[in-house]
Amino acid sequence: MLRPLIAGNWKMNTNIHQGVELVIRLRELLKGVDAVEVLLAPPFTSIYHLSHLVADSPIRLCGQNLFWEKSGAFTGEISGDMLKTAGCDYVIIGHSERREYFKESDETVNKKVVAAIRDGLKPIICVGETLEEREKGKSISKVKLQVKKALAGLPGGALRDITLAYEPIWAIGTGKTASPEEAEEVHNALRELLFEMFDTDSLKNTRIIYGGSVKADNIDSLMSQPNIDGALVGGASLKAEDFARIVKFLPR
Ligand code: PEP
Repeated sequence: MLRPLIAGNWKMNTNIHQGVELVIRLRELLKGVDAVEVLLAPPFTSIYHLSHLVADSPIRLCGQNLFWEKSGAFTGEISGDMLKTAGCDYVIIGHSERREYFKESDETVNKKVVAAIRDGLKPIICVGETLEEREKGKSISKVKLQVKKALAGLPGGALRDITLAYEPIWAIGTGKTASPEEAEEVHNALRELLFEMFDTDSLKNTRIIYGGSVKADNIDSLMSQPNIDGALVGGASLKAEDFARIVKFLPR
């Protein structure tokens, strides 16, 4: 049984100085934590520097994105190998902000997942529905299709390193969060889908985490659901005390 995973996505926030300050504070607050796997996804420019600061702490690092080619003339892009050698173990793929503002598709998400695994990174694959899709009762069909396409062509063994993040788009950065029951319904449907697609054995290590306005005051009830294996946290991960409280959610 894997430990729950709590990941902080800093997005395009924090310069190096602010990142260092935040990590120093978090190292203090998270001393001795080992029941939960803790990840931070800082901007690319801070990763290498922060990798030295987290070395003797429970914190591990995560990229916010990558490009699928190994190297070459792709100005502005970052490869999996660059992330890995800078100090990342994980990478976020297909965040809704990337899908919306940078036109990432299910097909490019799949290419990135394949590249991440090739380069020794563990992908955190984000899926989620719009408010309109939820109101039309299409949440589950939308996220199932996103997951099927993201995992297309992958062997069952690859699941060992994959985390799915259910992030309803209407809940990201809005202060609105899915209720624990709404989130659980989707997580359960995704778990069933994985069982349809892969054998039981390859699924032992696959976590399904929730993201969308996770805060110190809603993490305990979200984590009380049987199929919620952790959280992807945006805004609240920029405040050390709030993020530390989320990491120290009250166990089920
Ligand atoms: C996110 O960026 O993945 C996210 C869930 O953001 P927030 O927690 O701010 O809604």
